[in-house]
Amino acid sequence: MELRLGLVIDQERCIGCEACTVACKNENQGSVGFIRVRTQGARCKDVPSGTFPDLRMTFMPLVCNHCDKPPCIAACPAGAIEKRAEGVVVLDWGTCEGCRACVDECPYAAITFDEDKEIAEKCNLCAHRVDKGLEPFCVVCCEGQAIHFGNLNDPEEAAGRLAHRQGSFQRLVEQGTGPSVYYCPQMEPRGV
Ligand code: SF4
Repeated sequence: MELRLGLVIDQERCIGCEACTVACKNENQGSVGFIRVRTQGARCKDVPSGTFPDLRMTFMPLVCNHCDKPPCIAACPAGAIEKRAEGVVVLDWGTCEGCRACVDECPYAAITFDEDKEIAEKCNLCAHRVDKGLEPFCVVCCEGQAIHFGNLNDPEEAAGRLAHRQGSFQRLVEQGTGPSVYYCPQMEPRGV
């Protein structure tokens, strides 16, 4: 079975607390102020729906999609971005020359430019932790246990199972990038 690491975000469980955003900043030493508006990795989008009084709010943590066909790689003249064999797309901050070419190329606005460090930054799926057999730090810190990490091709793993659950979706599939981040929408209204 081919290894395809990715994330599944269970919107049934996400409460929009942004612990993932803080975890990412902490783990990856984001610059002061480099959060939420121009985030290094995770940020959370609020999605309201319904009409009064039947209103609902769902939350959508946004990260790099670790695309199967990542347009950001071809855009980088320095060769700072690579897709590893297990599927993680890594931007090497030490190799980045700060030209910003990749920023415009990502259809998900997943790459941001850190003005303090003068480099492009994005979620590397905590590759430094994955290499040690650990989960990405946002997964560990998620209060609602809403973020699942694992092999999306393995139905024995929660991530693999949820990615293919009816209703699960990826962002902007029409772009042909093959995102490795899936969302499980809230299926039923909360309550009794
Ligand atoms: Fe590259 Fe954007 Fe895809 Fe991440 S989401 S792999 S930055 S194109």
